[in-house]
Amino acid sequence: MNVAVRREPVVAYVALGANLGDAAAMVRRSMDAIGQLAQVELTGRSSLYRTAPVDSSGPDYINAVVGLRSTGTAYDLLEGLQRLERDALRERPYRNAPRTLDLDLLLFGDATIHSATLEVPHPRMGTRAFVLVPLAQVAPQRVDPAALRAVADQPCERLPD
Ligand code: AMP
Repeated sequence: MNVAVRREPVVAYVALGANLGDAAAMVRRSMDAIGQLAQVELTGRSSLYRTAPVDSSGPDYINAVVGLRSTGTAYDLLEGLQRLERDALRERPYRNAPRTLDLDLLLFGDATIHSATLEVPHPRMGTRAFVLVPLAQVAPQRVDPAALRAVADQPCERLPD
């Protein structure tokens, strides 16, 4: 018998960041591209935010977060995101160098994953305004208000939609 395996969709959130070239255009294009990944349906997009580099250098970043429903695994999603980063001709001349595109899988349903290639929830998401502020816009229920207050001193300017 041919049994088709159909997964229940999982709600996931992805952070986008760029600080080289036309970063806003790159982030907008990448939101569309994430929505076109296999087994992915985009459900929400935050505004774009301008933020100062944290643990990095160069011009200000443009950051955003998208919400999506995935019928694949977290690893399928990571692979798709990494392909988009490669497509953006990301260069890694040195650790935390400025980058054309950075995509981080923040949350994948309620999954906790600690493997060599994937950590979910993303380990540094709880201390960064450039993640928490746009995430709170698309998924306020997934952001601890105390964590948001704790990063209020990090500059994070919402750009007009
Ligand atoms: P980065 O330089 O920040 O883009 O880190 C990329 C590396 O982080 C890749 O080797 C990924 O396998 C790994 N990684 C671990 N957890 C995550 C995550 N939640 N989202 C994206 N990359 C991750």
